[in-house]
Amino acid sequence: MGCLFCNIIKGEVPSKKIYENERVYAFEDINPCAPVHVLVVHKTHIRNIDELDHSNAPIMADLFLAVKEIARSTGLEADGYRVIINNGKAGGQVIWHLHVHVLGGLPDLGPMLSV
Ligand code: AMP
Ligand code: ZN
Repeated sequence: MGCLFCNIIKGEVPSKKIYENERVYAFEDINPCAPVHVLVVHKTHIRNIDELDHSNAPIMADLFLAVKEIARSTGLEADGYRVIINNGKAGGQVIWHLHVHVLGGLPDLGPMLSV
């Protein structure tokens, strides 16, 4: 069984592209939680934060610099936006390819957690 987000990066599974560079791909979440809900993934497969170390830490810089570009290009930058990484089972991670959620497009995104 392959990785859904790797297959999206390869174009084998369709997605609505928001941003791409040499190392990062970003696309609309299929089940948006806000008017703007973008998923930002690195083209290098990494399961989650638990697999990060000093050798692959530039992945995070690539992801967050892409978040900044996406915030600018989607118009979120002016009012602000929320950035979420669901990490591991209790964190709500269901796709095991590290990804950053970028959410915005509302005047107030509400409380951080609704548990
Ligand atoms: P997480 O719970 O952080 O692992 O988030 C996984 C996210 O992937 C969810 O918000 C899903 O709506 C989203 N998702 C699942 N399948 C697809 C897909 N084929 N295209 C776009 N987003 C997807
Ligand atoms: Zn993957």
